[in-house]
Amino acid sequence: MSNNKQKPPVTSKIKIDINNLPMHICPACSNTVFSEATEIRLLSAIVSPSGKSEIIKVPVAICSLCGKKVMNSDLEESALRGSRGENNVILQS
Ligand SMILES: [Zn+2]
Repeated sequence: MSNNKQKPPVTSKIKIDINNLPMHICPACSNTVFSEATEIRLLSAIVSPSGKSEIIKVPVAICSLCGKKVMNSDLEESALRGSRGENNVILQS
């Protein structure tokens, strides 16, 4: 009679205060609310490991106002701006 009860792995809990994280702002319309959408990539039979053409669904975030897709490069820029302080107000004349 073996009792192989596996203990759940101890996960170190890192406290993250959401309010301290830089918020992504849509570079096109300054909106801060985004929705999830699906991008479809076509994998042709020539490069597919299975030898068949396949559809690959990629989750992406799009601006809920103007529909602009959030790119990784945008997020890095946002994070940089956020860590530099609150100087991200651009005045346009
Ligand atoms: Zn937008």
